[in-house]
Amino acid sequence: MGNQCPPRIAKKCVTCNSVTIRRSPALLMPFIAERVFGWTPTEITSDWGLRDIKLGHAYSICNTLKCDNCGLIFLDIRFDDSEMDALYAGYRGDEYNTLRDQYEPGYTANNQWRNEKGFTHIPIVESYIASHIRSPEKILDWGGDTGMNTPFKGRTATHHIFDISDKPPIEGARRVTKVEAKGNKYDLITLMHVLEHIPYPQNTLNDITDIMGRETVLYIELPYEDIIRLNPDPSSSPYRQKHHWHEHINFYTEPSIMSLLKSCGLLKIDLSILKISSQITSSGGGYIYSALCRLDE
Ligand SMILES: [Zn+2]
Repeated sequence: MGNQCPPRIAKKCVTCNSVTIRRSPALLMPFIAERVFGWTPTEITSDWGLRDIKLGHAYSICNTLKCDNCGLIFLDIRFDDSEMDALYAGYRGDEYNTLRDQYEPGYTANNQWRNEKGFTHIPIVESYIASHIRSPEKILDWGGDTGMNTPFKGRTATHHIFDISDKPPIEGARRVTKVEAKGNKYDLITLMHVLEHIPYPQNTLNDITDIMGRETVLYIELPYEDIIRLNPDPSSSPYRQKHHWHEHINFYTEPSIMSLLKSCGLLKIDLSILKISSQITSSGGGYIYSALCRLDE
């Protein structure tokens, strides 16, 4: 059998591979639907002449999925590589912001801080990492954009970035390819606010473990989404309250993070929940998961 395309609609959990999945109807937010698929909202009127369809506004529908094994809540649609490119090329650039403002008025103004100051919680992250490992000398920031948010920036001998963005990196940082990255021995690889956007997080982690050596520590940071945090009892089925999907397509629980690490041959050093001041979750909350891990040998 040749290489198979990953399925368009997830049939199993993307972190623990369980097939015990629950479903609930939801909307794919119109900005994402237009940017990825070219689908725009429409209004069904009597002119359409549809006998069995109710009149009204029509948006792109999808399903919210919930894994009964690890609790991951996720969008059923899994974008392919070209669709991810369509969504993230020129991320938060002029064209992106114009379309987003059209559907979500005020978006650009409300997110200007991201471009200007970057994350404000990095000192908390640095303290967290420093409390578990010795000071890193060689860092790779996977998905690190310009390197503005890389922990310990300006204080390491090597600051490499792997990212689909083509923005020029900040002073002292250098963009590398996967092949170049593999030729380096990093003390620390950071993967911050990436895996909530990624259709197949195991693939990304497998790419990263390919680069890691025995001494390399991986720092993973993910939003602790409010719907997960405020519904700690998994039997309360918070997935039924998740009615819309935007950029974050995976809402992680602690068991889903642990399953993901295990399925990719990674061993936890620590997994903590940190409170930060940045609005980091999809509903504007300020809690993150911080995980440190290494290869399980
Ligand atoms: Zn699962």
